Amino acid sequence: MQELTHFINGAHVKGTSGRFTDIFNPATGEVQAKVPLATVEELNDAVAKAAEAQKAWGATNPQRRARVMMKFGQLINEHMDELAELVSREHGKTLPDGRGDVQRGLEVVEVCMGAPHMLKGEFTDDGGPGIDLYSMRQPLGVVAGITPFNFPAMIPLWKMAPALVAGNAMILKPSERCPSTSLRLAELITEAGLPEGVLQVINGDKEVVDAILDNETVQAVGFVGSTPIAQYIYGRAATNGKRAQCFGGAKNHMIIMPDADLDKAADALVGAGYGAAGERCMAISVAVPVGAETADALIEKLVPRVEKLKVGPYTAGEDVDYGPVITAAAKERINGLVTSGVEQGATLVIDGRDFSLQGYEDGFFVGPSLFDNVTPDMDIYREEIFGPVLSTVRANSYEEALELVIDNPYGNGTAIYTADGDTARDFAHRVNVGMVGINFPIPVPLSYHTFGGWKKSAFGDLNQYGPDAFRFYTKTKTVTARWFSGIKEGGEFNFKAMD
Ligand code: NAD
Repeated sequence: MQELTHFINGAHVKGTSGRFTDIFNPATGEVQAKVPLATVEELNDAVAKAAEAQKAWGATNPQRRARVMMKFGQLINEHMDELAELVSREHGKTLPDGRGDVQRGLEVVEVCMGAPHMLKGEFTDDGGPGIDLYSMRQPLGVVAGITPFNFPAMIPLWKMAPALVAGNAMILKPSERCPSTSLRLAELITEAGLPEGVLQVINGDKEVVDAILDNETVQAVGFVGSTPIAQYIYGRAATNGKRAQCFGGAKNHMIIMPDADLDKAADALVGAGYGAAGERCMAISVAVPVGAETADALIEKLVPRVEKLKVGPYTAGEDVDYGPVITAAAKERINGLVTSGVEQGATLVIDGRDFSLQGYEDGFFVGPSLFDNVTPDMDIYREEIFGPVLSTVRANSYEEALELVIDNPYGNGTAIYTADGDTARDFAHRVNVGMVGINFPIPVPLSYHTFGGWKKSAFGDLNQYGPDAFRFYTKTKTVTARWFSGIKEGGEFNFKAMD
């Protein structure tokens, strides 16, 4: 069995803790590798080495740092198929989806090729007589990225590219379920010219995460994962004086207005609800048709589409719509939630619980489930299912549908399908959610905008990637300077306006 490593100072390093966790092939249920779980000492050692390496890297001019991103982007492109396969092998998502995972990460690397522009400071000429003000953006030092299982390439790239190009060193702690892509990306960025020690990949679980949060050298933590852990990490990082941005879970609603193109809405719902087995933080898990007629017609259009979905291993190629979920425990939890939906009175239109695939009976496959008549008090509505389950909550009016979204504790993404620009505009303006789609089901913003939810989907300030990332990973220093003779004529002791 393959024993994975950490990646410290430009090389693979075996774990010393003696503690490991299994990495499964989700399609077969077999253990395919084991990953070491680092100790506090291993983490502290990696941080000390990163701090040493950061000194020269932070002093390297931004354009040279950007050139590492150019070469890194080129290498990611050259290794696209290999990286996608690594993603799919541990996560289980289809190969085209694995490629999308790498691609959306690569796009952030591409923006980082222009980082010198983003890292420029500001200048005020003659803010007072002979007085100039300028600000600079300086790296924080050593920062950390802690990432989830569901995007093994994209989210580590969202974390590492802006942090590194801004002159920081990064400790990357990928999900212990899918760590291989991060290890491979570390090799590639080293090949691209990143000096040793500037990116350290350390594998582990809660023990190493807590060590990161308590390490005094680590200045900032960028986290993505479930809401309870996001909130915990935000609190502990802040208590220890660190900058933190912690992105959490989601319950994304799509409102379908009576004037919507229902075929397009149904197509969008099937892709956004069941794609990647529903294991996306931007998955649409709740459909909210407005009016009984819309709801009946929508369910009628959804049923054949959901029944046609092909579930299978990524090795089956393009012929599969989605793969297995991540663990046996996830499968059991999802099926349990579907059962709770039935018990609590929802209408289970399509039941995916008994799904089994010949030759893959031990795989973590879950068939697609479709619910109608879901109400907000049910567990299937209140919990993030993170599986191939779409719930339909019927609303009587646009206002009722909007209220539902506004009252939901999560605020990652949402969408509206309508032919009416006025309704769409009203929705975009009033809804309290970070990313909004108008006739667009998964509104993940492009890499030169920024990604971030509201409410319990994000803790802390500033979004991921785009201009916000450069603000998060740098400190602003503002200098007020004058060089004229006045200073020679004696000190000034009163604090006064620059008139
Ligand atoms: P998770 O919270 O279980 O794990 C995320 C990271 O936290 C992992 O690296 C893990 O090792 C670490 N971790 C887990 N438990 C911990 C603990 N008790 N103490 C300290 N660290 C701990 O999340 P996951 O299951 O890997 O990912 C799925 C979740 O991530 C979903 O809720 C999904 O919505 C969310 N997600 C959010 C976004 C976003 O941008 N908002 C993007 C992707 C995924």
